[in-house]
Amino acid sequence: MSLSSAWWKRARDILGERIVSDPSLLDPYGHDESAPEEFRNPPEAVVRPIDEGEVSAVLKLCRDERVPVTVRGAGTGLAAGCVPARGGIVLTTELMNRVMDSDPANLTITVQAGVPLRKLYEEVAKMSLYFPPHPGDEGAHVGGAVAANAGGARAVKYGTVRRFVLGLQVVLAGGEILDLGGKYIKSSTGYHLVDLMIGSEGTLGVITRITLSLLPPVGSVQTLLAPFATLESAIGAVPRVLGTGILPCAVEFIEHSVVLLAERLLNKSWPSHEGAASLMLILDGRNDQDTLAQAEVIGTALEQAGALDVLLTDQKGRQADMLEIRSMLYEAIRPGTAEAFDICVPRSEIASHVGFVHRLEETRGVPIPTYGHAADGNVHSHSLRRSLENGVFGGELPGWREQSASIRHALYEDVVRRGGVISGEHGIGLVKKEYLPMNLGPVHMAVMRSIKKALDPEGILNPGKIFDA
Ligand SMILES: Cc1cc2nc3c(=O)[nH]c(=O)nc-3n(C[C@H](O)[C@H](O)[C@H](O)COP(=O)(O)OP(=O)(O)OC[C@H]3O[C@@H](n4cnc5c(N)ncnc54)[C@H](O)[C@@H]3O)c2cc1C
Repeated sequence: MSLSSAWWKRARDILGERIVSDPSLLDPYGHDESAPEEFRNPPEAVVRPIDEGEVSAVLKLCRDERVPVTVRGAGTGLAAGCVPARGGIVLTTELMNRVMDSDPANLTITVQAGVPLRKLYEEVAKMSLYFPPHPGDEGAHVGGAVAANAGGARAVKYGTVRRFVLGLQVVLAGGEILDLGGKYIKSSTGYHLVDLMIGSEGTLGVITRITLSLLPPVGSVQTLLAPFATLESAIGAVPRVLGTGILPCAVEFIEHSVVLLAERLLNKSWPSHEGAASLMLILDGRNDQDTLAQAEVIGTALEQAGALDVLLTDQKGRQADMLEIRSMLYEAIRPGTAEAFDICVPRSEIASHVGFVHRLEETRGVPIPTYGHAADGNVHSHSLRRSLENGVFGGELPGWREQSASIRHALYEDVVRRGGVISGEHGIGLVKKEYLPMNLGPVHMAVMRSIKKALDPEGILNPGKIFDA
């Protein structure tokens, strides 16, 4: 479809020059950071509102003209959620980047949706407070993180973004501005629509403001590294760690084949290459005495569980190198990746699910390097399109496209069998849409369709995402 001259006239009245229409500038708005190339599609125009009033006027216009609207935060998503699959326009929140209210007395901050996470962390630090969720890319917008219910490594102890959202301002498909929640902690007052909007991936409304709850800051952080002979033995140690009664801030598992890729990319080194995999644990507490005491108890548990070594990386530089390597794993692995998965299974199923992934690797002859969040069940496996030997990518694997589709199917079947979900933190978007009914079942799908129909009867908001309405 093409945008009508009536659309252009009204859009210019609302936004003036803040509309991108030059075809050479539209391409970057046609994809996110997910690997599959088939999900790319540039919009016909990009609108750049600065506040909820402009968002409301744009949505009214697009509802009247039946123009699809795909909301885009920073485009760091990994599910092709912000790709305008059915054409129409992209509404970017990139100019909606103001901090509206910092309120230390209520331990809250209210921001516009386009505030990048990096800026949020800085603002919260100025308040001497702490916002724990840390999805891997700090360029992501707060609105995008809420719309995807992003997770990250610290979810073990603190939960995902959902746990910190107290209030939202949302513009509905017809342009109505809806204020939900507030600065209060408890509410048994009507349906909890804040929760409905979190994770809705731009299909139910445009989030324009977010009020987040904050915590007192942590005084000390320690990082432990424990290499293990196999990935299965590393993951098998997690119940013993949790059995100590201490909840680490993060428990990450990483295969050393992936570490080699990131080391080369960053020219930095991981503290140990003994064995096939490592557990990296982050402990936080009120002061060094507290975190060191935690490290001692957990170190003993790791040794008893078969760790080849337990290293306390108390030097700041070393700790930073390790965290940087961990945060760049996806970047390192992406050039050889056909598809990245982010399944989540009950904690007790992680080890056997990873065993299943390894058997798939052997039977299909495709490397499926894996890392993830060991203590919350969120596993990132990657089916590759290129061979991988000693941390170096080789040539393209024959038939990788078909192999990748068949690996995806087998992997998701295993996840569903174990009572898990096909996406723990990246969302369904376009990439996993086909598999959602296999995970949720017909009644769940029917309820979601009814909700979509009630809130967006014309189907203009991010059409074609999550499921077909
Ligand atoms: C290197 C790397 C590491 C990553 N690590 C993690 C990780 O550890 N954990 C994790 O959870 N994710 C991770 N991600 C994925 C990504 O950063 C998150 O999904 C992030 O929350 C997306 O934010 P965004 O602003 O980029 O959203 P986008 O990609 O722009 O959009 C994501 C979805 O949200 C919708 N949306 C965006 N803004 C709004 C809004 N204002 N209102 C309504 N809908 C909206 C879009 O339509 C789309 O469906 C990683 C990505 C990269 C590239």
